[in-house]
Amino acid sequence: MNIVRFAPSPTGRIHIGNGRAAILNWLFALKTNGQFILRYDDTDTARSTQEFADGIKTDVEWLGITPHRVEWQSKRFDRYDEVAADLRARGLIYACYETADELDRRRKRQQARGLPPIYDRASLKLTAEELAVFQAEGRKPHWRFKLANAPVDWVDMIRGPVHIDTATLSDPVLIREDGTYLYTLPSVIDDVDMAVTHVIRGEDHVVNTAVQIEITRAIGGVVPAYGHYSMLLGSDGKGLSKRIGSLSIQSLRESGLESMAVVSHAALLGTSDNIHPCTDIQELVDGFDLAKLSRAPARFDEAELAGLNAKLLHMTPWSAVKDRLNFGDEAFWLAVRGNIEKLDDAKFWDDVIQQDLKMDVALEDVDFIAKARELVPQEPWDQTTWKVWTEAIKAATDRKGKALFMPLRQVLTGQDHGPELAALLPLIGRQRVLDRMGLI
Ligand code: GLU
Repeated sequence: MNIVRFAPSPTGRIHIGNGRAAILNWLFALKTNGQFILRYDDTDTARSTQEFADGIKTDVEWLGITPHRVEWQSKRFDRYDEVAADLRARGLIYACYETADELDRRRKRQQARGLPPIYDRASLKLTAEELAVFQAEGRKPHWRFKLANAPVDWVDMIRGPVHIDTATLSDPVLIREDGTYLYTLPSVIDDVDMAVTHVIRGEDHVVNTAVQIEITRAIGGVVPAYGHYSMLLGSDGKGLSKRIGSLSIQSLRESGLESMAVVSHAALLGTSDNIHPCTDIQELVDGFDLAKLSRAPARFDEAELAGLNAKLLHMTPWSAVKDRLNFGDEAFWLAVRGNIEKLDDAKFWDDVIQQDLKMDVALEDVDFIAKARELVPQEPWDQTTWKVWTEAIKAATDRKGKALFMPLRQVLTGQDHGPELAALLPLIGRQRVLDRMGLI
């Protein structure tokens, strides 16, 4: 069985980029009858909070994702310690005593000499005396993984064949001076222990993957399949990081967007499929294929998402919204859904229908409106009433087209644009129509 994971750090809320990771993994799981793990990468206990974790849970649920399992890295430190001890014993991780300043100076010297800024493994060459000095000074080591300095190749599910020679990389630090773990090692241990079969994540992790494949082999794990999708850029072609707050899933939700609009957008962005609204996740599952994801960066445009949201609402049936609206009925919804961008906008049209409205009528329309009022049909009214009425008005006045419809729309709704009057008229009802057209 396929097992995927979405691994956010609860050091903040997730944004549309993380949301996309969650959705792509979720679609992959649904498509292949696999399992989806929500894994909190909370090894940074100082910055991770329960509140952020709860918020992420809410966000994930709002996106329609129901994880099969939830895991916390903070509950697995014993396991990480055990693996680290084994790697240490086998000489695969080694103690380093350089301070951040020393490393920085060394990198600058290398760069000045035109050399790549790769860690030179100086700590491996320390003599017993030098080590004793550091220990006497109370310096605590950080721990690096000793890369094999060999090619790592994999066939990426999105990028195709990838080749990285780890000789071009610095040995990664896995454990800090204070004993805390960086992301790299716990992630590998979890992927192995949780039998993750497919790792689908952003291309900012491609180099990590080469390192993590080496570590996976070092701990005797099965290397999962990897797929790295391209990053999201803003519509201006720049990274999203500056606007990340406004692009959190929380703020998209609070701005009144439909979750399926966000899901459709995130799922189809950067694929060969047209971005279109899907009311049902199954449609996205049916069309899902990682091979459709482009290697070029995808552009995220809030205006496009807003348009998609409107399109989605325009095709949403009453049954899907009725529990979220405490007003209206099916006829109301079918009348107004084509004229709203967000669900909350429906309230505006409910008010238009219900309100006491008295519009000023332009002088040249006064007689016309009075005549039209005389011709208001008797009830019962239905969708055909508008046509019957306006045909009668046309016959009785010299008006047609816009000159006929616009003054009626204005006096009946107070608006220049809006839903079809044929649909609105029965909702407004005869009495309100007479009232709105009276006393002029
Ligand atoms: N916590 C990592 C991140 O958010 C997870 C990356 C991964 O999927 O391995 O970047």
